[in-house]
Order: sequence, then C-alpha cells, then structure tokens
Amino acid sequence: MTTEEKALLKQKIEMEIQALQKQIETLKEKTKPISPDCGLGRLTRLEAMGESHVNHKVLDESLLRMTRLTNALSRIEHPMFGICIECEEEIGIGRMEVRPESVRCVACTNNAT
Ligand SMILES: [Zn+2]
Repeated sequence: MTTEEKALLKQKIEMEIQALQKQIETLKEKTKPISPDCGLGRLTRLEAMGESHVNHKVLDESLLRMTRLTNALSRIEHPMFGICIECEEEIGIGRMEVRPESVRCVACTNNAT
C-alpha cells in the first residue's frame, strides 16, 4: 500500500465513522422504549415494536462496525496495516477500500469459513 493509498483510506474511514455516528444517533432515538400510554392502537403498537426490533439489530451492527473502523484507524500507521495476518501478503487496496477493517486477504477469509 502506498502512502497516498493509505491517506485516502484514512480519509475514507474517518468519513465512514462520521456517517455511522449520525446513523447511531438516529437509531438510538428510534430504539427508545415505547411508552405504554402514548396512545397508539394495538396494531400500531405491534408494528412499532417490530420496527424497533429491526432498528435494534441495525444499531448493534452499526456499533460493531464502528468499533472495527475505530480499530482500523488506530492501526493504520502500523507497518502491518493492510497485511494479512494469516499469509502476511498485502490484502489489496480494492478490498481495503470496501472493508478497511479487514485483517485477512480474500483467500484466507475464504479458507477460514
Ligand atoms: Zn492471506
């Protein structure tokens, strides 16, 4: 990975973290417990609960991704960043752009699963 590629990747991670932060704020707002006396009909309440369940799931995933991206950002200056932990080959900029949190190359990821 060249210095330019690394700089671009860093920018990308920072932007994604910002976007995630906003998304997490919105989701936290949406996943607040529904007050039992907020005047919703029974059906609407069930719908609201179903939606809340989905939002909780998305929120969990967003928080997990946030942790991974933050880790990636803290590792980016490390010489092993972008190097596969299994085969120690370069992971490849294409994959790092899509998933900057990757620690394994495509081949090793496929072998692991
Ligand atoms: Zn590998």
